[in-house]
Amino acid sequence: MSDTFSERLESVERRIVAACEKAGRPRDSVRLLAVSKTKPPEAVREAAECGLRLFGENRVQEAQSKIPMCPEGLEWHLIGHLQSNKAKVAVRFFQMIHSVDSLKLLQALEAHAGTILPVLLQVNVSGEAAKFGMKPDEVAAVIDAANQMQKVEVHGLMTIPPFSPDPEKTRIHFSTLRELRDRLQEETGTPLPELSMGMSHDLEVAIQEGSTWVRIGTDLFGTRN
Ligand SMILES: *Cc1c(COP(=O)(O)O)cnc(C)c1O
Repeated sequence: MSDTFSERLESVERRIVAACEKAGRPRDSVRLLAVSKTKPPEAVREAAECGLRLFGENRVQEAQSKIPMCPEGLEWHLIGHLQSNKAKVAVRFFQMIHSVDSLKLLQALEAHAGTILPVLLQVNVSGEAAKFGMKPDEVAAVIDAANQMQKVEVHGLMTIPPFSPDPEKTRIHFSTLRELRDRLQEETGTPLPELSMGMSHDLEVAIQEGSTWVRIGTDLFGTRN
């Protein structure tokens, strides 16, 4: 791993560009979410100085203490499991939620959001027992419910596949999410342009399969303790 943040960012950026080229997609069809969980505000500041604006955190409690110590003007996305009883706090700190995994949570976000809140629905496409996320056949009803709400807007889907050291083994989960998205767009008549999938070690495969948000922690900020 390169030793300065800007070198690591350059390396991640080169990988994104190469994956976009290979997939015949424009670079601006994929956004880089810098996952700063467990890292201090100084790390976020350094990333911001390198031009990053979009940051991901997985815990409300950590975000609540960290975000006020970070530079202003950044956009914060929640990518971890959120309990409905923390929705009220979450909407104060996050501009987008990637990890909506139940109708109950969606309703809690609708109740507390002060303004339009873009969300992604987290789907457990692998059926892995330990993972958060809705079952694929539960998603259409949640989209229909969201279409009756005033503040939450479903922009697409997110998934966290089971870890495999070989990214090719993960491809099937990314393509399954994309196909589910295509089907749901037709069934519900709701545009679902966003797919949040791909992390440090599998961003290339995710981009080939249609990711619009890659969530990168380790390869930008270094390993976590
Ligand atoms: C930690 C985390 C990431 C980043 O993973 P890396 O492998 O460190 O890039 C992405 N998505 C979610 C949901 C995470 O919790």
